[in-house]
Amino acid sequence: MTDASPRFLVVAPVGRDGELICSLLRSSGYAAECLTTIRSVERLDSSMLLGLILTDEALAQDGFEALRIILEAQPVWSDLPILLLTSGSNIPQYAALASQVRLEFRNVFLLERPIRKELLLSAVQVAYNSRLRQLEIRDAVARQFQSDEALRNTEKLAMAGQLAATMAHEVNNPLEALTNLLFLVENSTNVDEARNYGRLAAQELARISEIVNQTLRFHRAPGKPAITDVAELASSALSLFRGKLRNRKVAEVVKVQPAFAYCSAGEVRQALVNLIGNALDAMPEGGKLHLRVSAVQRQDFHYVRVTVGDTGSGIRREVRPNLFTQFFTTKGSRGTGLGLWLTRDIVLRNGGRLRYRTRTSQPSGTVFTMYLPSLPPFEMTRSASAPARRSAADSTATAHVA
Ligand code: ADP
Ligand code: MG
Repeated sequence: MTDASPRFLVVAPVGRDGELICSLLRSSGYAAECLTTIRSVERLDSSMLLGLILTDEALAQDGFEALRIILEAQPVWSDLPILLLTSGSNIPQYAALASQVRLEFRNVFLLERPIRKELLLSAVQVAYNSRLRQLEIRDAVARQFQSDEALRNTEKLAMAGQLAATMAHEVNNPLEALTNLLFLVENSTNVDEARNYGRLAAQELARISEIVNQTLRFHRAPGKPAITDVAELASSALSLFRGKLRNRKVAEVVKVQPAFAYCSAGEVRQALVNLIGNALDAMPEGGKLHLRVSAVQRQDFHYVRVTVGDTGSGIRREVRPNLFTQFFTTKGSRGTGLGLWLTRDIVLRNGGRLRYRTRTSQPSGTVFTMYLPSLPPFEMTRSASAPARRSAADSTATAHVA
């Protein structure tokens, strides 16, 4: 095909039927092309097809399998309309073929030959409209996918900005200490005293190096799912907030045990940073941040449970329905409103689920709990995979007011 617009393909190998149908379609404003075999349709892109118009001679010649291959290779959005022109009532072999096609495939119109022009054109019009709708849905899904991708990048950028500010702040403290210590070394009166200041300076340098390494590790974390120690991920996510925790007078209550999940480390770390960041934002006047990671087994299903809890304000009832909606924020220009939307997306993509509990009356606070599967899906036993699947399905977060 040279022309790039979608068209009907007509496969009618006997006599002049193909040509006649094509010219009828073209004269009614439809793009159409005549082919001699069903197999030659295989190499064409689904986006280029409006529908297949076949005669039963074409089907008898190429076999049912050729059609099945074409239909099974369709992308998910596609349900190609097929118009089968059949002489079934006169030829039993064709009648059998036609009923097999009708039973096996979904979007089939059987049209008895000889067929009136008007009837053929009205079937073509129905097929055309249903195919246009499929193409529209395909485009809408692609647009949605692109805008979701753009939003993920927006949140990543916002987070990168926050991390850069956090890192500058974190590095600044030991740098100041270093400057003071070097001044003291310079003015020391004896070697022992200078050595002591030198040792302290080396410790401050080690702190800077650790902060830099943590930040680099954050950005280099692999994106592909693999068996990952979530305890390590959680600790490194928390370490990015050390400065903020100190400034806000927020105490950490950390209980993490090594616990291995099958997940994308980079994504899960981002989800954890979102949850910890939100917990801190909820405690401007100080409080306690709880971080727990443990391996849990329920029946045969092994998973890692991560909880991020705060003693902040809690989430007001009227806010809860919108928590996971894109752009919903109560933080004005400081918030993106993408953190929880992205966090839930990440948890679901990694086969887990996300829950929260919150309470606005005293003692107020919020706990987000993330469950991640411990094993890759193909290693789950039959009995283990059932709860895993259920967990992904009912993963909409629910508010349990404690
Ligand atoms: P953002 O943090 O940019 O506002 P999020 O999607 O991360 O966006 O959060 C959406 C909203 O959910 C926040 O603006 C806040 O109102 C609420 N929220 C999330 N986590 C907590 C929490 N731990 N405590 C109180 N409110 C929270
Ligand atoms: Mg947030």
